[in-house]
Amino acid sequence: MLETRPDASALLSSVFGFDGFRPGQADIVDAVAAGRNVLAIMPTGGGKSLCFQLPAIMRDGVTVVISPLIALMRDQVRGLREAGVEAGALTSGNTPEETDAVWQALEERRLKLLYIAPERLASSGTERMLNRAGVSLIAVDEAHCVSQWGHDFRPDYLKIGALRRTLGVPLAAFTATADAETRDEIVARLFDGAAPEVFLRGFDRPNLSLAFEVKNQPRSQILSYAAARRGQSGIVYCGTRAKTETLARALCDDGHSACAYHGGMEADDRRHVEHRFATEDGLIVVATVAFGMGVDKPDIRWVAQADLPKSIEAYYQEIGRAGRDGAPADTLTLYGPDDIRFRRSQIDEGLAPPERKAADHARLNALLGLAEAISCRRQKLLGYFGETAEPCGNCDLCARAPETFDASTAVQKALSAILRTGEWFGAGHLIDVLTGTGTDKVIDRGHDRLPTFGVGTEFDRKGWQAVFRQMMGHDLVRPDPARHGALRLTEAARPILRGEAGITLRKDTLARGGRRPAAKALVSEEDAPLLSALKAKRRALAETARVPAYVIFTDRTLIEMAETKPQSLDEMARISGVGATKLERYGAAFLEIVTGEAEAPSHPARRKLAGREAGVLYDRLLSVQADLARGDSGLDKPLSCSSSQLAKLADLRPTDRETVEKLLGERRADRFAEAFLDVLRAAG
Ligand code: ADP
Ligand code: ZN
Repeated sequence: MLETRPDASALLSSVFGFDGFRPGQADIVDAVAAGRNVLAIMPTGGGKSLCFQLPAIMRDGVTVVISPLIALMRDQVRGLREAGVEAGALTSGNTPEETDAVWQALEERRLKLLYIAPERLASSGTERMLNRAGVSLIAVDEAHCVSQWGHDFRPDYLKIGALRRTLGVPLAAFTATADAETRDEIVARLFDGAAPEVFLRGFDRPNLSLAFEVKNQPRSQILSYAAARRGQSGIVYCGTRAKTETLARALCDDGHSACAYHGGMEADDRRHVEHRFATEDGLIVVATVAFGMGVDKPDIRWVAQADLPKSIEAYYQEIGRAGRDGAPADTLTLYGPDDIRFRRSQIDEGLAPPERKAADHARLNALLGLAEAISCRRQKLLGYFGETAEPCGNCDLCARAPETFDASTAVQKALSAILRTGEWFGAGHLIDVLTGTGTDKVIDRGHDRLPTFGVGTEFDRKGWQAVFRQMMGHDLVRPDPARHGALRLTEAARPILRGEAGITLRKDTLARGGRRPAAKALVSEEDAPLLSALKAKRRALAETARVPAYVIFTDRTLIEMAETKPQSLDEMARISGVGATKLERYGAAFLEIVTGEAEAPSHPARRKLAGREAGVLYDRLLSVQADLARGDSGLDKPLSCSSSQLAKLADLRPTDRETVEKLLGERRADRFAEAFLDVLRAAG
């Protein structure tokens, strides 16, 4: 018999329902499917999982997937099964029945993907089992967990190299961490130093909007950002545990559904938050970096960083958790001089060897350069990852070019103030000297007699603060922990001090930037009711199947449905994210929503209204109802009105709450009356 390897793009569309590969995916899939050793560095949300799932389906035997987080594994297994692929997981979270079923499927050689928690590798039973199971490939997710210097280090990951040797099969490692040191560590530990084929590309995430703001009442900055995105799932990253709790409370007080998450919480509480985040629509999690690798939710619509992350990689990884489904998502990063000091001292006071510290400072510098950028942020970000790009049109600087000025003289004055005071002072005191403010401290030290005293009249305090912050951002000066954070010059400052190089700084970063434009709508106003009806359907199906909504379809898929309005199952099948299995399972249900076909016949009450204005009104009430099926917050008990109740409303068009309440009863009126009245009154 002729053996043909199933074609990758055919499987891509029939199993996963995608009509094309994302950048970089096709080459990686080819290499992995061909059995070569691979290290792929892809951005979060770039579509890593597909790069081992698809080859696993293509290859004979079972692919072992090692992944650090149980929740993530269970999610992927669920997603694969929904797509009709035999997959199972062995984790400590399994029930004995689940474990038995996995063993059984392995025995019968049915399984295509077996997910294993790293701690399982320690048991000799696992190795024996894998030896018998016909393993043909090892895939390692979050491969940077082998790096001892990262905060995600997992000692059990060190056993993977031995497993690869024992099984004698190819290994494909995946990570979003781009820096060279981590890459070298991965090669050394997972591949015994034998260079794998490396893929490093596709770092652009054009659907993410990028923005930075200087801190200025940071709490209200975050609150107004969240307010513009009410009802959408988001993450707020904070530098400290305490802040996650105060900020979560502030968001709740502001009417959001929000909760805190950090490493100091009990494991059970953390799991509870992870579960809520995965299953609820519109929850905001306020978290430290501990909320990270397990976040596999593809429809996170925004990420805000309330404090500056430690490096450009950390920045990229955190914002990258938004918009994995490819639909538009927003990101905002707040920063200020305190953040810079904090991140510098964190590096200086850490235990890493000196080369490592220098590298960490450089990675922080790259992020600060991005924060203080004066043109397209994406260009700069991609430049760091070695890619070139045109201005993106989807960052704050593309939206509004910042005002800049030649700051060479101002910076020279500041540098000379630092030198003349012996590099022993922080920005506050230096600004006193520059602006000629005779504080006690200035007079005690005789700094009012320095030639630099009072030479900086061109700016007020705020202006000078902006200059000092940007000087730190450009790494011209660094706080010295041995001198209580006093600013000292770096080598980069010398040419400017000597007048051999100039420097341009931003003028406007401290100006209050009016009201921020509201978040972009996901679909046009016209398609919005259909999108919410589709979402309501998804929610109902997800509840029945007891899975997170996105396991049924992601936002992006629903958006495409709302926009293209497929009229048949054939057209439905062309939508990205609708694979064969999902088409069979859910296609008809969603098609009904789009075409409205099955609806009329199934509700005699609506049929009676057909062709009348009341029919249109009925449909509007129905879609408003779908939006509110779980209340304003999206978290209440599902509630809906009967078709005949809606028909009566559409027919009688009451415009006062009392009549509505009489028709619906108090409980339904509480939830729907206000929204219904808006519709009815507008119909006049
Ligand atoms: P990560 O690289 O962060 O692990 P995932 O593998 O979870 O990202 O993929 C992110 C999202 O992108 C998922 O919802 C996945 O279904 C989707 N995706 C992956 N590849 C494609 C593709 N070729 N076309 C459309 N969507 C894709
Ligand atoms: Zn841009």
